[in-house]
Amino acid sequence: MNTVFFDVDTQLDFLYPAGALYVPGAEAIVPVLGRLTTYAVTHGIPIVSTMDAHTGADPEFAAWPHHCVAGCLGQRKPEVTLAGSRGPQHFIPKQHVDCFTSAALLPLLAELQADHYVVYGVVTEVCVRHALRGLLATGKRVTVLADAIKELSAAAAQETLAELTAAGGAIGASTDY
Ligand SMILES: [Zn+2]
Repeated sequence: MNTVFFDVDTQLDFLYPAGALYVPGAEAIVPVLGRLTTYAVTHGIPIVSTMDAHTGADPEFAAWPHHCVAGCLGQRKPEVTLAGSRGPQHFIPKQHVDCFTSAALLPLLAELQADHYVVYGVVTEVCVRHALRGLLATGKRVTVLADAIKELSAAAAQETLAELTAAGGAIGASTDY
């Protein structure tokens, strides 16, 4: 089984109370993200990390407060989510909630040849949802880690998980790894 970890937008602006688009409670998943990163590097599992990298005038800012502007502190990732020199990590910068709008993503996935995508990050019902949909569309196995995601709306998060399982995806936990 060729597993790839798919790390969605675990960036300072989302994860911490001082962030520009803080997801309440998201800092609680940071230690889990750290464990997953360590697991990936010790098991040689590639990590694909999508990252919001907005310009100051992206259309998304009509709907959301300014966040993750490229080059700003809030756009960076916490140290624990970085494999650094320890293992393969591929960054996918994006200007849209759907990471599959990045032209670099599908060629990267083709190169990695995963059988199984293990997905975590924020925000559950927005960027994680788009990632799950796009990954399911590749026809591979997709699992989301319920204790390593965080939502803005509990109802919308439930809908996202229901949509995932209806489409053949699975819900797992970080402790499976
Ligand atoms: Zn954004």
